[in-house]
Amino acid sequence: MFEKILIANRGEVALRIQRACRELGIKTVVVHSEVDRDAKYVKLADESVCIGPPPSAQSYLNIPAIISAAEVTDAEAIHPGWGFLSENADFAERVEQSGFVFIGPKAETIRLLGDKVSAKNAMNKAGLPVVPGVDEPLPEEPDQVVKVARSIGFPVIIKAVGGGGGRGMRVAHTEAALLPAVQVTRTEAQAAFGNPLIYMEKYLENPRHIEFQVLADKFRNAIHLGERDCSMQRRHQKVIEEAPALHISARTILRIAERCAEACRKIGYEGAGTFEFLYTGGEFYFIEINTRLQVEHPVTEMITGLDIVKLQLRIAAGEKLGIKQRDVQFRGHAIECRINAEDPHLFTPSPGRITSFHVPGGPGIRVDSHAYNGYFVPPNYDSLIGKIIAYGDTREQAIARLNTALSETVIEGIKTNIPLHQELLRDAAFLRGGASIHYLEEMLAKKAREP
Ligand code: ADP
Repeated sequence: MFEKILIANRGEVALRIQRACRELGIKTVVVHSEVDRDAKYVKLADESVCIGPPPSAQSYLNIPAIISAAEVTDAEAIHPGWGFLSENADFAERVEQSGFVFIGPKAETIRLLGDKVSAKNAMNKAGLPVVPGVDEPLPEEPDQVVKVARSIGFPVIIKAVGGGGGRGMRVAHTEAALLPAVQVTRTEAQAAFGNPLIYMEKYLENPRHIEFQVLADKFRNAIHLGERDCSMQRRHQKVIEEAPALHISARTILRIAERCAEACRKIGYEGAGTFEFLYTGGEFYFIEINTRLQVEHPVTEMITGLDIVKLQLRIAAGEKLGIKQRDVQFRGHAIECRINAEDPHLFTPSPGRITSFHVPGGPGIRVDSHAYNGYFVPPNYDSLIGKIIAYGDTREQAIARLNTALSETVIEGIKTNIPLHQELLRDAAFLRGGASIHYLEEMLAKKAREP
């Protein structure tokens, strides 16, 4: 096992990784920007290195600064967390070339799967059902684009080949809307991802977002840890996640989950990963693979009793998985609420000083947060300040515990989206389960129209 690793991230995930390291007896180096200097998790790390000013481009995305921080502190490996450089194949390559271990899949795997068209092709070949579409980037000629759309059938969605974070997508319901949509997506793809390539697939009208957690070691052993339902979204950003997913037969789930694990073996995947699917009309359609730890990993940990971050570290250190598929037992139900520093009605960010902070506890409650009384939420990064996760023997119990936990939570000085979570947990469609990815936005739109 490693003696010391560097965490190339901030906030909640930096703390989460540190906790796993502590358990394994690994020393930690945390890199931070000037604005994160006084954060408690920075103080809790064994060592810390300031890598630049607040803007991410000059700090958390500054590859040379991160590599030299690893060099001066003698770290052996780098954990990229989520967001920032976590799915950047060039970063993974630079880490390895500089003599460190990248805690994640091989650079070539990240590259293959980061290109959504090559990922789709690879997964189609590996036997996963994919969204109907054309498995190559769109041609330039307008009449060719129209031909592709006609062959798929409207509505279609135009997506950036190098896209991520829910950006770089447009839906076209009619032929008239097609070419303008293609034009904006191409421009946006170039601006946001530095890659003008776009592709087209069938737009699925009211799907659910169901994803599968996988783990694979360097010896082609791969297992799945079941599914998560992440359909409660706003602007393609997940708000509430849960496991298991309701109203899908165990047989259907198992069939897809096993194929995900098999795909990992086929492509020589290493580490933790998530296969994302849209689910509609009783069928699954693959959309992409996230080659990193996910924000919502705790719900899977709660129902399996496994520590995904510790397993990531063990796999990166070259250990065998040691867990067989039959060893993975699923028990109970877990739900996670993402707590954001934002206005619960307008969704505008609400950075600033937390003047009062009290987190809930009790049976089945887990709080993952780097925030504390007096913590300053900087305006420079995303607004996630923590997660409250509830476990129950049944979904009803998990919801009841989550309701109690949210009512006990005190966060003052900034606004949070806790009122939105409380409203959702009372919502009839949420309680029934199985709502589509558009449900939350439709609910908010309906509320906005009410007097
Ligand atoms: P990103 O990498 O930006 O997260 P994804 O490909 O995972 O992009 O898509 C993000 C979200 O966009 C999905 O969760 C879903 O809500 C929507 N989406 C993507 N592809 C389709 C599709 N073919 N039909 C309907 N919705 C889609």
